[in-house]
Amino acid sequence: RAKAWGRGTLCVFEPEMDTHLRARLEMEQDLRQALAQDQFELAYQPIFSVVTGALTGFEALLRWNHPRRGLVDPSIFVPLTEDSRSIVEIGAFAMRQAVADIAALPGDLKVAVNLSPVQLAFGDIIGTVEAALRDSGLPPERLECEITETALFESEQTSLAVLQRLRDLGVRIVLDDFGTGYSSLSRLRLLPIDKIKIDRSFVLDATEGSASAAIIEAVTVLTGRLGIATVAEGIETEEQWALLARTSCAEAQGFLLGRPLPIAEAAALARAGAGVPVALARRFSPPA
Ligand code: C2E
Ligand code: MG
Ligand code: MG
Ligand code: MG
Repeated sequence: RAKAWGRGTLCVFEPEMDTHLRARLEMEQDLRQALAQDQFELAYQPIFSVVTGALTGFEALLRWNHPRRGLVDPSIFVPLTEDSRSIVEIGAFAMRQAVADIAALPGDLKVAVNLSPVQLAFGDIIGTVEAALRDSGLPPERLECEITETALFESEQTSLAVLQRLRDLGVRIVLDDFGTGYSSLSRLRLLPIDKIKIDRSFVLDATEGSASAAIIEAVTVLTGRLGIATVAEGIETEEQWALLARTSCAEAQGFLLGRPLPIAEAAALARAGAGVPVALARRFSPPA
């Protein structure tokens, strides 16, 4: 970076920048050992049917248990692993672990695994998924691969072809963080996707009569016509949940409904045949 400033330029970093840069370098260093040292774990956030209130599955979310820093957020370390391409191996670990964990649960719950565009461009994601399904016995239709709208928008034809091959295996493709990128509705029709996940930012602003509520309603109706399912993320309030229940959105996840959980707690939910928390479930009981 300093080079780009030209010859003879003295490169002086601000003290905070120095600290920031050093922290980043240190983290990149530590990331190289992290996989071998078993420092990655998955948290499972429950996803529920908006129609019946039943648990439909979990989203697997990567956690880095750093020996000194404690739990490091994926928003911090995933970009670093993409720069170094180590996300290919880390992502393969997440895929194998998530598929094996969910296959061991009772019922026919689904698991959603996040994919980095780097895994589509450089790794053997098809081989990884095939092996994970074969070794665990999980039926392919119970695996959902999430890819963000921005990543998909920027993807080359080859990455789209990889997604299509995953679909050919029977795996479902979900467009994550929908609404934050630039997919026109006409382009949606051309993408190899089965479901869209409406971004938290729309849910956040979704109050009665708001523009965001109108957008959610319109998107669920339109995607429904295209044969694409919808799930909403980031449900935090009862108002948002009630509002969502009046749209055609099929599924929802968020802190109100359930936090990301260690596998043991996720398994307990699954064994209990859990639905949405009781107070929210009342709306599903038949009218008196
Ligand atoms: P995402 O795929 O959109 O995942 C949802 C994120 O929103 C999660 O953050 C989840 O904890 C958080 N969330 C869920 N419900 C609520 C809510 O009601 N309110 C709020 N404020 N947040 C909520 P997390 O676990 O920190 O993950 C952040 C991002 O990191 C994910 O966004 C995903 O893009 C990425 N990520 C996570 N795991 C993996 C992975 O295995 N591979 C790759 N490539 N990326 C991952
Ligand atoms: Mg996701
Ligand atoms: Mg998301
Ligand atoms: Mg998001």
